Amino acid sequence: MHYTYRFRLKPTPEQRELLDYHRDTCRQLYNHALREFEQIPESAGTLNQRVRQVRDQLTDLKEWWDDLNDLYSTVAQSAVMRIEDSIKALSELKRKRRDFLHKLSNYYATEYDLVAVEDLDAKGLGEPNDTTRECASCGVKTDKPLWVRDHFCPSCGFETDRDANAAINILSRGLNQLGVGHSKGTPVETALPVDTPVSAKCVVETGSPILKERTASAVSE
Ligand SMILES: [Zn+2]
Repeated sequence: MHYTYRFRLKPTPEQRELLDYHRDTCRQLYNHALREFEQIPESAGTLNQRVRQVRDQLTDLKEWWDDLNDLYSTVAQSAVMRIEDSIKALSELKRKRRDFLHKLSNYYATEYDLVAVEDLDAKGLGEPNDTTRECASCGVKTDKPLWVRDHFCPSCGFETDRDANAAINILSRGLNQLGVGHSKGTPVETALPVDTPVSAKCVVETGSPILKERTASAVSE
């Protein structure tokens, strides 16, 4: 067990400025050292050896980096050595994340016969496939800002949760890709609330493109 004392400092404005200056030098040194560290191939040694290799450059660094000479050398050294802790913490995080994803995908793979997923452009937060805009029941696209959490189709009256609508679209696309999809697969009884009066042209038969065509032509007649 390690015990440590903690004191609350009450620095004067001058001391505060000096502390900030040293802290900032440490920050720059850390970032510089990290870039140097990243140049060293993993084959060059253990993590500790590679970080120490960067730490050993400190003497040369001080030749042209004047601010470093204002730091105690142990402070500068430990700022560089901190890279080791950061890398360790990061790889621990990555491992946990990998484990979690593995468990999750394993669960889906054993629980379900088919899993359809959408390839989202996560960086651009884009949704190249229009699965949110498109109505899962009739296919009509409606613009939908992110804060609109429900899907309500002005064309066919289909109403559901925004994400449920997208999920149905993703599933039917997945089925189509496998060649087993034949329609927008929404059970008709969930398409509309039971006791809500709806005009006939809002009711679209789901599950059969032929029925759908017939409905469409019946409406246009
Ligand atoms: Zn619709």
